[in-house]
Amino acid sequence: MFIGMGSNLGDRLAHCRAALDRLALLPGTRLKRVSPFLESEPQEGVEGGRFLNAVAEVSTSLAPRELLGHLQDIEAGLGRAPDHRAGAARTIDLDILLYGDTVMNDPDLTIPHPRMAVRRFVLAPLVALAPGLRHPVLQMTTTELLRRLGPERPAALSGMRQ
Ligand code: ADP
Ligand code: MG
Repeated sequence: MFIGMGSNLGDRLAHCRAALDRLALLPGTRLKRVSPFLESEPQEGVEGGRFLNAVAEVSTSLAPRELLGHLQDIEAGLGRAPDHRAGAARTIDLDILLYGDTVMNDPDLTIPHPRMAVRRFVLAPLVALAPGLRHPVLQMTTTELLRRLGPERPAALSGMRQ
């Protein structure tokens, strides 16, 4: 299973590290590997400064919905407001990206994560951990999905947007 994390509020590295520590302590769960951290510009209309992003690989006996509940508890414990608006800056965001080959399309839980295939800040760290891993719906590897996004916009240009 792969969990995506991002923070763009306060001490971003501390929030990500604390989230990893708490992930490792979840019942029936082992933190296997963590990708390198990368920085990304807020996208999709999210407010605030640059994000720090990473992906964690875990193994867990928690069911997808149980895992989501624990991720939301960790988010709340790290100061994410319960009335968090979509688009607000966040101390921590934890998303289930992939849960083995499980495919779920419930209103409150979609697996694979619906936007993972168009997010460079998800795919780049995922490729670092699992370059040959196949998306169970799109049937493309993480490397192919990342390549499909095309070349990264030069930093100088993304800086000019601000
Ligand atoms: P985003 O992660 O897109 O920035 P939020 O974290 O604010 O937005 O959205 C959280 C909502 O997304 C939760 O209420 C949760 O039910 C829903 N959700 C659906 N699929 C997933 C998933 N795979 N992982 C995490 N949350 C999910
Ligand atoms: Mg989220």
